[in-house]
Amino acid sequence: MIPESFEYHAPQTLAEASRLIAQFGQEGKILAGGHSLLPLMKLRLASPRHLVDIGRVAELKYIREDADKIQIGALTTHYQIESSELLKQKCPLLPETAREIGDVQVRNKGTLGGSLAHADPAADWPAAILALGGEVEARSESGSRWIPAQEFFVEMLTTTLQADEILTAIRVPALPAHAGEAYVKFAQPASGFAIVGAAARVVLDDAGAVAEVGVGITGVAAKPYRAAAVEGVLRGHSPTAKRIAEAAAHAAEGVEVNADLYASAEYRTHLAAVYTRRALEKAVERAGGK
Ligand SMILES: Cc1cc2nc3c(=O)[nH]c(=O)nc-3n(C[C@H](O)[C@H](O)[C@H](O)COP(=O)(O)OP(=O)(O)OC[C@H]3O[C@@H](n4cnc5c(N)ncnc54)[C@H](O)[C@@H]3O)c2cc1C
Repeated sequence: MIPESFEYHAPQTLAEASRLIAQFGQEGKILAGGHSLLPLMKLRLASPRHLVDIGRVAELKYIREDADKIQIGALTTHYQIESSELLKQKCPLLPETAREIGDVQVRNKGTLGGSLAHADPAADWPAAILALGGEVEARSESGSRWIPAQEFFVEMLTTTLQADEILTAIRVPALPAHAGEAYVKFAQPASGFAIVGAAARVVLDDAGAVAEVGVGITGVAAKPYRAAAVEGVLRGHSPTAKRIAEAAAHAAEGVEVNADLYASAEYRTHLAAVYTRRALEKAVERAGGK
């Protein structure tokens, strides 16, 4: 339970952090809330020579509205998101998801950016950011780029972030009129991580049909994914209970479903359909649909 020795660095600015991470390359690791990285280091599953603690970089901690988008600094904690009045009004899926994460201690230290960069296949944030059609900003000394969430997650614990890049911000759409969002999960009782988690965002048109829909699923496969088959069955149609159930039945389509001590592949496939249906029903109800 004791990590290998490492050098600790505490930059005060993003520029300084970028310079350090570029200098150390594969031998360096960013430390944010530490709630995923430190356990890995104690188990010696990760042994960085240099730890770059970005906890003092104030410019990475914010939640702001920018036209019809919401932008959140990577170092914003789960608790800050859970308690944000702006988000409760403009993007309620995010506080609802934050509330589902771990316990009070984890939510006070863990960060949105850290969770997305870590890419745990059972983490909650990826489902929400995928359902919202969000993007993440990656910055290095040579510039910055916005990456759509759908292209960000590559494999278990693997993203498209390069070794010299810092995840700096997350951008999602603000809630438009006639829209509803919801996150529901079936949690592993000891850790709280998702055995299955489903996030849904639905926008209805004037006739009450589904104009836009996003469904993000976590816990089911090696990486979180957007359930395109579910969305396809709903888009353009009235979201009746029957159509929602038909759509949700496709929740695990096209993915290799995980099997472990907690749930067989068959059971997880069943849970994916049930939780996707529940998330969609809630989102449609909140959008003002029947
Ligand atoms: C007891 C316990 C219960 C938990 N329960 C849940 C749960 O129910 N649901 C859930 O989703 N999560 C859960 N977690 C995980 C928790 O949410 C973590 O805080 C989170 O996954 C990682 O965020 P962090 O800020 O702690 O990142 P860290 O642990 O500091 O870093 C994680 C990884 O991301 C990298 N990284 C961090 N920030 C950046 C950045 N800005 N740019 C590039 N790379 C970066 C690090 O180098 C490291 O590889 C739990 C954790 C614990 C200990």
